[in-house]
Amino acid sequence: MSTTISSSYKHFDTSLQLRGNLHTHTTRSDGQVSPQEMINAYAEMGYDFLALSDHNTVSDFSQLDDRGLLLVPANEITTTDGHLLCLGTTASIPCEKSTQETIDSVLLAGGIPFLCHPSWNKTFNHYSYEFLSSLTGYAGIEIFNGSIIEDPGSPLALDKWDRLLAAGHNLWGLATDDAHYPFQRGRGCCIALTRDRSLEALLTALRCGGFYASTGPSIQSITIEGSSVRLTAPEAEVIRVIGESGRVLSSVPGTEITFEATDCRWPYFRIEILAAGGGQAWTQTFGIQSPETSRRRELIANKPVLKALRVHTASDLSGDLPAELWEKTRKFDDFLVAEVADKPQAATEICCLLSDTSLFFDIKCTEPFIEKLSAGKTQENKARLFTDDSVELFIDVGCTSTSYLHVVANAQGISYAKALGPKRTRFNTENSEIPTKVSKSTDAWRLQIEIPLITLGCSEAPSRGQIWGFNATRNRTPVSELSQFSFTGEDNHSPQRFGHLTF
Ligand SMILES: [Zn+2]
Ligand SMILES: [Zn+2]
Repeated sequence: MSTTISSSYKHFDTSLQLRGNLHTHTTRSDGQVSPQEMINAYAEMGYDFLALSDHNTVSDFSQLDDRGLLLVPANEITTTDGHLLCLGTTASIPCEKSTQETIDSVLLAGGIPFLCHPSWNKTFNHYSYEFLSSLTGYAGIEIFNGSIIEDPGSPLALDKWDRLLAAGHNLWGLATDDAHYPFQRGRGCCIALTRDRSLEALLTALRCGGFYASTGPSIQSITIEGSSVRLTAPEAEVIRVIGESGRVLSSVPGTEITFEATDCRWPYFRIEILAAGGGQAWTQTFGIQSPETSRRRELIANKPVLKALRVHTASDLSGDLPAELWEKTRKFDDFLVAEVADKPQAATEICCLLSDTSLFFDIKCTEPFIEKLSAGKTQENKARLFTDDSVELFIDVGCTSTSYLHVVANAQGISYAKALGPKRTRFNTENSEIPTKVSKSTDAWRLQIEIPLITLGCSEAPSRGQIWGFNATRNRTPVSELSQFSFTGEDNHSPQRFGHLTF
């Protein structure tokens, strides 16, 4: 099977492009000018369509002169969590319900739900990544909202969009003005690729990704052939191809790019245009179908599991586990080399025990070049301990997908623990000892490591059936090789891709 591209742009061609703004406020809510003045202004700017999306107000176009604009029914609905832009229906959707309930009501009414200004406010989290990730059914997010230029936060939400796309959410990126005042017009627009100038064709394009987002520049053409995409944009200074989690795959000066996806290992990319003066435009994603991207989709979807064995007393790190316990533990040895996901040259085997007070890991690291082990870091010099022959553990108590304890131990047993992520204060890493014991044989080194539950912020042992996020990695130096329990891709620190530790 060769590499092919899937894209909404295969169904919408660039010959007819309609420019519009889908988020505006008038005197019907907290906007400064009347609905008719707003329509007049956008008509004079040469726009093709406009949505009047007053807060919790169904659009009413009677008594208004459309001035040649397609007027799109819209409503910015206040949910219990934030603002939701409902497009394409005049149905009355109740406000002050949960965001998921509101999304469901909008879909039921035949509308198109987008989530507004995710990075508005001082914490940049009108909607956090975690919250967006927990929702289903919405069409996309505002990746640019012009009114946040005057407000705290960021008008952009490309970082959240990239993370959501990498986690497998299929979401469209939208740019809007959210104009409350005349000077906010023309900052963020939606350029729809439509069959004709009808409202029906416009809504189909919005629903199905037949549009791109822009703060000014336009895209002249998008041509998809086999495994390559060619894009031209007359105002572009630079055109960039953005891959998984926001990585720049290609950056080309000029007004056109041809991107060949055959060597891409990740399932999608998007293209952005940087124009003179700071204007930008963003395409929707292009999917890549190849044996390698399919394998990666599967590896990410099928999380590995390590099952902890319950024991009555904490181990005393006595070297070998008692034979009867060793027999009973479920060992995991299916580590994969980071980035390429191949079988590693040197095997690693891990098992886990749970006592009333500690989690206990026993990790056997097969090493054909045992005499070349490098573990020179000391207790006083532990920075970059992972550059030694070492093992790293990543423990996400309760599967937050954001916050975890990172434990590193080298082949001399030198270790440290560090809490990472927004909920890191749940862990107790102050002055906490991470007891380790290392033993060596002619073809392996073995690390035993005891993580007190108190360090993990747990006052008691996890109950039966609980699932935590978990990753483990092995760093080799005789031959440079990084292997992983969870296939997290290029970065070990991707908690949304951690596998599971079950109890
Ligand atoms: Zn809003
Ligand atoms: Zn608004």
